[in-house]
Parts: sequence; C-alpha cells; structure tokens
Amino acid sequence: MIRFEQVTKRYPDGTTAVDGLSFEVAEGELVTLVGPSGCGKTTTMKMVNRLVEPTEGRILLGGEDVAAVDPVRLRRTIGYVIQQVGLFPHRTVLDNTATVPALLGWKKAKARERAAELLDLVGLDPAVHGHRYPEQLSGGQRQRVGVARALAADPPVLLMDEPFGAVDPVVRERLQTEFLNLQATVRKTVLLVTHDLEEAVRLGDRIAVYGQGRIEQFDTPATVLGAPATPYVADFVGADRGLKRLAVTPVTETDLEPAGAGAADGTANGPDGAAAGPGGAVPALALGGSLKEALALLLQHDAGRIAVHAPGDPSRVLGSLTTAGVHRALRRARPELSSR
Ligand code: ADP
Ligand code: MG
Repeated sequence: MIRFEQVTKRYPDGTTAVDGLSFEVAEGELVTLVGPSGCGKTTTMKMVNRLVEPTEGRILLGGEDVAAVDPVRLRRTIGYVIQQVGLFPHRTVLDNTATVPALLGWKKAKARERAAELLDLVGLDPAVHGHRYPEQLSGGQRQRVGVARALAADPPVLLMDEPFGAVDPVVRERLQTEFLNLQATVRKTVLLVTHDLEEAVRLGDRIAVYGQGRIEQFDTPATVLGAPATPYVADFVGADRGLKRLAVTPVTETDLEPAGAGAADGTANGPDGAAAGPGGAVPALALGGSLKEALALLLQHDAGRIAVHAPGDPSRVLGSLTTAGVHRALRRARPELSSR
C-alpha cells in the first residue's frame, strides 16, 4: 500500500535525513517507525504526503507515485495526526472534526453527522464535547479529536507522528489501547512514528528500528526483541528485552502439551479466557494470548500449568502450557536458537 524505493532526503543545508530507504507497508498493516530523535522518522513520514519532497527515489501509494499526485488532493486522502494536534482554536470540536469532509465539499449537515459519528468512535460524546472549543478539553481529549479528524473522510492511509507524545503516561496508555481497538475495526494502513520503544512494540504489526537515516531492522516486534539484527538494535531495545518480548509473543499450539489426565477440566470461563477454572484448579487462557498473560497466570496459581483453549470457546481446551512451553515459545522468536 505504501512503498518506499531507495528514498534519500538531503535538506538544503546538506543534512542527509534519510539515506536510501526501502520498505513496504501492506494494506491494513500498522507499521511503527522508532528510533532516537533526529534519525529521520518525521522526514520519512512527511514525504508520504509531500510536506517534504525526496531528493532521490520514489514513494508509491497504492501503486501510484505520489510525486505525480497533486499535493492538496493527496493530503485529503491521507489522515494526518501530529503531536501538537493542530486543532483550529476558534472552531468547535465538531467543526474541527468535520474539516476534511467540508473541504471535500460535503453538505454541512452530512459533514457534521459524520463528525459526530467519529467523535463517538474515539470515545467523546458529541452532545457534550462537540460544541466545546479545543482549549476547553484535556490533552487526552484533544488527542482523540485529532484522531477523529484524521479519520473523518475515511482515508485508507493514516500517518501519525508521535500521536500520543504530549500526554502523561496513564492517559497515553489508555489512548494506545483505544487506538488498538479502533484500528481492529477500521483497519487503516498506518505509519506511526514514535521515539518510545514500548509504544512501538505495543502498537506495531511490524516495527522499523531507525539508526541515523537508515532502517537497521524491519520486522515483527517479537523478532526485533528476540533477534536484534545488529548490535545497534540490541542496544536500542535494551537489556530487558526478554521481558518486553513476553508481551508481544503469542501462545501458539506448538507451545502446548496434550491436556492429559487432570491437566484441564475443560470448563474454563471468563470473557477473555484469563480466569481460573471452577474449583480454582487450573487457570485458563485463550490461544493467542500473550506469554506475559500466561506467565502471570502461572506465577499466580500453583498448578504448574495453565489450560489453553480455543479463542472465543473456553469449553474447547487445546492443551496445557507449562513454564517449559513459555521457554520454547521464547526460543521460537529467535531463529538462531530454534534452528539448533
Ligand atoms: P526525527 O523525526 O527522527 O526526530 P527528523 O526527520 O525530524 O528526525 O530529522 C532528521 C534530520 O534532518 C535531523 O538531523 C534534523 O535536524 C534534520 N532536519 C529536519 N528537518 C530539516 C529541515 N527542514 N532542514 C534541515 N534539516 C532538517
Ligand atoms: Mg520527529
């Protein structure tokens, strides 16, 4: 959906911000660009909607070279969310949200109706917040309006530059969770810039780890944390990457042992599957749950194993997971170990 081909950007003062960048974001995929300040993340993003023009190379959007698309038209088909949000201070929240539909010539009533729908989707009550002005909102609420505005014209692509950077850690985590839920519904193709590794691995289907103007590794969070491609990446992801990997590595069937006699009573309950079975004997988790959830259950109960059941069907137990299974699962994301 978004394809960078050997893209280089040199600013007039001679700074090479990105150097021979090639990567691709699939339709419906969320890719995070992560790296230290000044490594070229924002420059990369701004070349997609032509706020910055590449010096060399090209960028294709749905197969079309963006250099051939009128920048104004291009920007109306790409949602853009930035840290400073950039809401118009003298327009109401509803009118801010309706900005792009209005520019696209929608009738006012229809644009407002759409804006109200979107505010609702990001967790703001249009009747309560719609008629306020941006300064009358909290930082987290403004950030939500920024996301609603970016989605208003239903663009296939979203660019997000440090979208949750301006709020405190608690609100930040809530916004991340909300955004993940939202993305599960709207399935946009998303390029999201952050300098925060935790955010990158939590949100990204894949993450691009930037060094100076270059991508050092482009892979799933579990692989980047489990098998850093270079010493730079290993250093960037840090010594506690083993712990971080637990949260981004799912439990799969190959990690399980047969449920066996007495291993599970097959009557696990709880909407998320993360609840102890009746009698408190063996705690249960749905397949696809994270190793972090699994380990938490293993540590919390004394059973030495947890029952793993089919997603959405707690009555169908697929097998049991032990600490040895957790270990195997962690090795799985490290090709150099699992091939031995
Ligand atoms: P990041 O978003 O990763 O912090 P940027 O893409 O903003 O990085 O910047 C990459 C490099 O390009 C930095 O060295 C920065 O100083 C430089 N840079 C960014 N914008 C300009 C500009 N308009 N003119 C000159 N240099 C720039
Ligand atoms: Mg930046």
